[in-house]
Amino acid sequence: MAVPTTLPTSIQLEIVTPDRLLVKEQVDEVQIPGTEGYFGVLPGHTPMLSALAVGEMWYRKGQEMTFVSVANGFCEVLPDKVTVLAQLAERAEDIDVARAEEAKRRAEERLALAKDVDYDRARLALQKSLARLQVSSRAPLGGRVGRQRMPPTQ
Ligand code: ATP
Repeated sequence: MAVPTTLPTSIQLEIVTPDRLLVKEQVDEVQIPGTEGYFGVLPGHTPMLSALAVGEMWYRKGQEMTFVSVANGFCEVLPDKVTVLAQLAERAEDIDVARAEEAKRRAEERLALAKDVDYDRARLALQKSLARLQVSSRAPLGGRVGRQRMPPTQ
């Protein structure tokens, strides 16, 4: 089999949930919350698999960055393709901030109780609500909600 001699110059990104294909785009850079920490992917990355943590991912296309909250799933990285299979994935514009605030309040209340609480469940609910609030707070800097221009380099 012929081995490609040039590195890819972009990444085909797919973010898939059980009920929809949220993103299918050609992008320049991706950052993902893995269970071992956040990792960045540029074209030509070494193939790898990672489980997803609950958190915020972003991808960059030119100067435009898009933020997505994700939870539970896996990510496959190939030199020219990143596939995120997530139980939950929401763009900033999909996020109901009041609902996330309410979920955060409930989770914090439960975590503050001394007994009869499923702490793992409450902690997961808190992490999901924080990820949603973080993504929804990505102020548009001349772009659409949840999208930012890269800051100018010094
Ligand atoms: P809640 O307690 O508010 O229902 P939850 O964390 O229990 O939140 P999930 O099980 O994480 O809810 O998600 C169930 C569905 O609702 C998913 O499709 C998810 O994308 C959606 N969802 C949950 N919270 C929000 C939100 N704040 N804004 C938009 N969609 C949300």
